[in-house]
Amino acid sequence: MKLFGSSGIRGITNKEVTVDLALKVGLALGSSKESAVIGRDPRIAGEMIEHALISGMVSAGCDVVRVGLVTTPTLAHAARNYDCGVMVTASHNTSEYVGIKLWNPDGMAFDSAQQEDIEEAVAVAAADLTHVEWNRIGNVTTDSNAVREHSEMILSNVKQIKPASLRVVLDCGCGAGGTITPYLLREMGCDVITLNAQLDGYFPARNPEPNDANLGLLKKAVVQFDADLGIAQDGDADRMMAVDENGVFVTGDEMLAIFAGYECKAGGMLVVPVDTSMIVDDAMPESSVVRTRVGDVYVAEEIKRTKADFGGEPSGSWIFPRVSYCPDGIYAAARLIEIVRDTGLADLRQRLPQYPTKRGTVICDNDKKESVMNMVGSEMGALGKVTDIDGVRVEMDDGWLLVRPSGTEPKIRITAEARTGVDELYEIGENIVKEGLA
Ligand code: MG
Repeated sequence: MKLFGSSGIRGITNKEVTVDLALKVGLALGSSKESAVIGRDPRIAGEMIEHALISGMVSAGCDVVRVGLVTTPTLAHAARNYDCGVMVTASHNTSEYVGIKLWNPDGMAFDSAQQEDIEEAVAVAAADLTHVEWNRIGNVTTDSNAVREHSEMILSNVKQIKPASLRVVLDCGCGAGGTITPYLLREMGCDVITLNAQLDGYFPARNPEPNDANLGLLKKAVVQFDADLGIAQDGDADRMMAVDENGVFVTGDEMLAIFAGYECKAGGMLVVPVDTSMIVDDAMPESSVVRTRVGDVYVAEEIKRTKADFGGEPSGSWIFPRVSYCPDGIYAAARLIEIVRDTGLADLRQRLPQYPTKRGTVICDNDKKESVMNMVGSEMGALGKVTDIDGVRVEMDDGWLLVRPSGTEPKIRITAEARTGVDELYEIGENIVKEGLA
């Protein structure tokens, strides 16, 4: 049974992700771990799923410590003191979704082998997993220090800026970032204006995904308040995106190139997924750029394996191995502010090369994805040099085209980037997918 996608277990509340499933996952996890720390983002179903997980874990004899409503990077940081961490979150998905993401003590999400162990155990959970004797069930306790400890770790890794010398508009999107980010940036010395820092699992203010289309209010507010930059986070604040002082959204590829410029040593290594722009390669001629499957866990695994300096995903996940293998949208915000204190964000953007990119999706049922992708693979082989590490990526002299099935939604994603003629290139990809669907 396949439970885990590219970002853990995720699905519609009470349809795909149920109390029954969470209980079995808890039982499976509790059978192999002695201690766990658990937290949740503000989703409506968060507490329901958390209780089921806890019941499963303690009935298998695992001690559970609750840290309550926190961000994913806060939970991943707390996991260092336990055998594992459990986060109830659906990240940037809309409010009807809920999910479960599992963490190792070093801040690395469970890898494929660990996920398969849980899947196998869940398949037999009802019948065969051990429920321990009544006097061996795990303890449930509460720890209220997780946010403070995560904040202290971040503050010890960034410089204080002169009080109120830098104005930031921060849009937490009603997500878990509201529990930590405004306070931390103020402690750093910023003048912070918050938008949507009230926690609300209906995400009434905006879609939790921090992309250009969803950040209209932030872009306006940065200009109106004459701020130095705007910061936006997703529902569980592992992702972070930014707006420059002119109210212009900084794209994920630009953010990746900016961070990499400060994090990668000369001759160092940068890890990015296959859908990353060639501006990153062009901006980092001194570094080697390694490409992985899409999904922050694959980027994190490759960073750990290769001891790379930095890595990330254009979707807004930035991984600084110095502090954690978990993408941390709070540390990333603090680090960006540290950078912007010396050089304005618009200036940093304008130093980068610009190539037009086009991204889009075609709706495709999950059970049709494989046959469509087989067809795409044979058609795209004729266009140029193909890599099939994740979907099909074809590289040509003037650009590249990537067609890959979404890991979490019934969609096929198309990305095209070209020095000239990006629309035509995108259309070639779109037509190939549509032919495959016909
Ligand atoms: Mg997230």
